[in-house]
Amino acid sequence: MIDEYSDVVQPYTAQAQLLKLLTHPVRLAILNLLRDGEHCVCHLEAHLGLRQAYISQQLMVLREAGMIQDRRDGWNVFYHVTQPGVFAVLAAVRELVPQAEPAMDRPGGVDCPCPKCNSAASS
Ligand SMILES: [Zn+2]
Repeated sequence: MIDEYSDVVQPYTAQAQLLKLLTHPVRLAILNLLRDGEHCVCHLEAHLGLRQAYISQQLMVLREAGMIQDRRDGWNVFYHVTQPGVFAVLAAVRELVPQAEPAMDRPGGVDCPCPKCNSAASS
């Protein structure tokens, strides 16, 4: 049992911290949804099929870690990723663990009530 990491291992603690942030299915799903830019909580709610309270909890974890930022616009709060480098990590993980493209990645796959999807549908 060691109390302190050696100088060699010590620098990895920040990297481990980042990976720890990613070891959560819902946080991975949120970050993947934010790949194409900022989205409101209602968009995440519609596409993840989870309650807003639960999503907000995970958004708070991501925000406190400095991975995402929020922007208030009227009644809506939009979130965007502040460290786009994470998308390369997510892509690498998807390559290691392949998944079928979820419905949310297909146009018209989910009936989303958010302002962004609604303006895209009406234009
Ligand atoms: Zn939407």
